[in-house]
Formats: sequence, structure tokens, C-alpha cells
Amino acid sequence: MSDLFVELTAPNGRKYKQPRGLFINNEFVASKSGETITSINPSDESEIASVYAAGPEDVDVAVAAARKAFKDPSWRDMDATTRGDLLFKLASLIEEHRETLATIETWDNGKPYSVSLSDDLGEVIGTIKYYAGWADKVHGQVIGGTSVMKLAYTIREPVGVCAQIIPWNFPLAMAAWKLGPALATGNTVVMKAAEQTPLSILYLGNLIKEAGFPPGVVNLLNGEGRKAGAALAQHLDVDKIAFTGSTATGKEIMKMAAVNMKNITLETGGKSPLVVFDDCDLDQAVKWSHIGIMYNQGQVCTATSRILVQEGIYDKFVEAFKEHVSKTSVVGDPFKEDTFQGPQVTKAQFERVLSYIESGKSEGAKLVAGGEAYKDVGGKGFFISPTIFIDVKDNMKIYREEVFGPFVAISSFKTEDEAIERANDTTYGLGAALFTQDITKAHRVARLIEAGMVWINSSNDSDIRVPFGGVKQSGIGRELGEAGLEAYTNKKSIHVNLGTKL
Ligand code: ADP
Repeated sequence: MSDLFVELTAPNGRKYKQPRGLFINNEFVASKSGETITSINPSDESEIASVYAAGPEDVDVAVAAARKAFKDPSWRDMDATTRGDLLFKLASLIEEHRETLATIETWDNGKPYSVSLSDDLGEVIGTIKYYAGWADKVHGQVIGGTSVMKLAYTIREPVGVCAQIIPWNFPLAMAAWKLGPALATGNTVVMKAAEQTPLSILYLGNLIKEAGFPPGVVNLLNGEGRKAGAALAQHLDVDKIAFTGSTATGKEIMKMAAVNMKNITLETGGKSPLVVFDDCDLDQAVKWSHIGIMYNQGQVCTATSRILVQEGIYDKFVEAFKEHVSKTSVVGDPFKEDTFQGPQVTKAQFERVLSYIESGKSEGAKLVAGGEAYKDVGGKGFFISPTIFIDVKDNMKIYREEVFGPFVAISSFKTEDEAIERANDTTYGLGAALFTQDITKAHRVARLIEAGMVWINSSNDSDIRVPFGGVKQSGIGRELGEAGLEAYTNKKSIHVNLGTKL
């Protein structure tokens, strides 16, 4: 076997062939420089595999492949239903390889296998099928009411060559959110995975080829953000950039994308509030507050990481929440069936969460659970005990900054107006949740919260059919749902002169 593939056996015993190359033109190739990045198992800090890392020259090759495919009649003129069929085929191949993909995701990222298998892979398959169905249902409009001498209509065109930069917290799901709408509408793609989780995306390359996409329609790269990512964002022959990641990197990408005024979609950070009113169903509020912050090791951009509780039930909520977390947030080996929380993705993220724990303590917030590394997993790995700070003040770093870990800041409020004002007192505006049994108050508050998404009596139960995205410094544009198609099409207006007078 060439060095472009390696036979691996995962910790759960599953054997598979891991691609190591850059996936360009439906083939795996080595990077020009020979540079690689090594993926680490966050559960025991061992090396899993090294894969080729793209530099600017490789990015040029991938973009040229995507441009050629974009212009090629085999893709450009493909019947829209046939394009949808290719996506349906891809979804069924992902289903066939579901266990292997879930294994890679857990091994590389650290999320529990049960979650990878049901949630992540369920979302991937669902998203690809959802957009497969849209492929032949995206059309323009005839615009009447201009003049009898004019026929005006619009057609929806693909944007062109799309660069897609994805993060490490949901590698395959983020790939699906971006590939689905881009391919359904006839674009071509150069995607770059996060350097922390390079493996599953390459395995997906196998399935793209097998599904029958023409060469160059989907190109998948690994590589460092500052090299490969920046080369994509600055590339003069890339028409669009779609990015999910931190707000700081999103701002960098916006600047770089200005070079040729790329179309941009950005989904960035958050510090989402969850507001618990006195009149809520307490059990529901506790259950969803837990999921809202502790799911996926707290590594979710929409995590409801600030919990604001009305003073009448503050003590009761804190007690019930602590108890629920201690019962349900089982930390451990992500391949064990009862594990709810695996390790943080990398040492850097692990240390970042620990530094916020120190910050919370030194700023005087009250630590009531966790607050340290979780050691009981063979002495290795990036595990953190689920951490709860209460009586957190609005000026504290742990209240204002995104931690991205199993870490929550709880604070109390008196009135509805105060809750809204404090929920909105952030530079972010991604998600928000609120708990009340008063239907009028629920909708009133939902309207006044500055966020792209508000959950009433739940948290983070997003849905692939519903638009997802942020306001303020949480992003630009929407993914998922019908809105996700807007991000990958341009409207072209065609004016037909029906007369001879002019
Ligand atoms: P995090 O801080 O959570 O790792 P980032 O926003 O840095 O998140 O990373 C998200 C994605 O953006 C990754 O694929 C990463 O490689 C990429 N990236 C990071 N820095 C840059 C950059 N300067 N230009 C383009 N892409 C980048």
C-alpha cells in the first residue's frame, strides 16, 4: 500500500483503511511540500495517524480543479434531479459506512461513540438527504407588472467555486451543512477540515468518489488555518467562503475575503444566555440547561453557557442542577456505553478551560462543582470535571467570554426587563433559551432577545430544516433550512425586450 493510506485499528476494535492524502480531483495525493499534521487521540494522548497538510501550492491545485469542474458541462449542465440523485447516493453510502465514520469521529475528537453514531451521523445523513431533495426545487421567478414590452425573470445560479472552512467540534456534521446546499445548487467546493480533527473528512472523500460526483466537484484538504485556510480565503479564483469557527478567525477571514469581494457566510462564537423564570417547569429547565451546556463536552458554539435564574427559584434551581449534572454527566472513555462526556479535543482546549476555572476562582465567583481536570481515566487524556460557578457577576471574564468547555456560569435576576437587558449584554448573538409556562411572556421575551435563534422551553435542539446562524459578532448569513440555499445561489435577472419601438 502506498503511503497515501494506512490500515488502522480503532480502540473499539474496528479496522479500516484511513486515507492520508489531499483529496483533489477524486484522487488522494501527497502535499507538494510533503508536510503533514498528526492527529492525537484526546482520550490517551497517543498518535492516531499523520496526514498530508496542504500549503498554498496545493490550494492552487485544488482551486484550479474546482474551477475546471465548475465550468465542465458534465457538472454545469447536469440535470438538477440527477444532482439530487448523487446526493441521495452519497447519503446512502454514508449510512453504509456509518459505524466506521462514527468510530473515526470519536477517536479523533473524543465525543462519545453513542453520540457520534446517533446524533452526528444522523445529522450528516439527514442533511445530505434534505438538500438532495432541494436540488430540483430551487427556481427563479417571472416578474410581472413591469411593462407589456418587457418579460423579466430571474434564474438562480450557483455562486461558483466555494471554499469551506470547518471546525473540529462536529467535523462531519459541519461538512454536511456546507456540502449539502453547495452541491444541491451546482457549486464546486474546496473544503478544509480543522487541523485537530483531520481524519473523518478524508474518509468521506472515498464516498464522494464512489457516489459518482465528477472529479474536482468536491476537493477536501487538511492543513493549518494560517497556511491552507488563509490561502483559500485570499485566493483570487475563489468566489465564496463559508466558515465556522471562532469570532477572531472569522474577522481575519472577512478581511482576507475582501481581496476579491468574496461572498461570505460566517458562523462564529457565542455566549448564549438561558433565562429561567420563576414560573417555569423546573425539571424541564434543569434537564435542558444541562444539555444546553454540557453536551459535546461543552464544545458547541450555541452552548447556553450563561444561565440567568429568577431570584425566587434561584437556590432551588442551583441545587437541582448540581444534582442532575452529578448524576448524568458521566465522564470517561468515549467508547464506553454509559459515557456522557469524553475528553476535550486537544491539550490546548483542555488548558484553556482550566485557565477559565482559575479566572473564575480569582474573580470571586463561587465554584460549586468540578473546577479541575478529571483524573480517573487512566491518568491520561484531556478530561475536565463538569464545572459550575454560581453568583457570577456580569463583569467577570467567565460571564463575558466563550469558554467552550463543560463549564457554566450561573447568576440571578429580579425582573423580566433585567433578564432581557443582561441576556443582551454581550457582543455575541447566536442562541438563547428561556423557560416559562406563560405563553405570552415566552413570545414577548423571545422577540426582544438579540440572537439568531431562541429556544422556548428547550435549549440547542436545532433542526436541519430550520435556519441556523447568528447576529452581532456571532456571524453573517444562515445555514440549514431553505435559507441555507440562499447562501449558495445568486439571482440573475433577465430582461427580454418584447417590442420594436425601443
Ligand atoms: P478554534 O480557535 O476553535 O480552533 P478557529 O476559528 O481557529 O477555531 O478554527 C476554525 C477553522 O478555521 C479551522 O479549520 C482552522 O484551521 C481555520 N483557521 C484558523 N485560522 C485561520 C486563518 N487565519 N485563516 C483561515 N482559516 C483559519
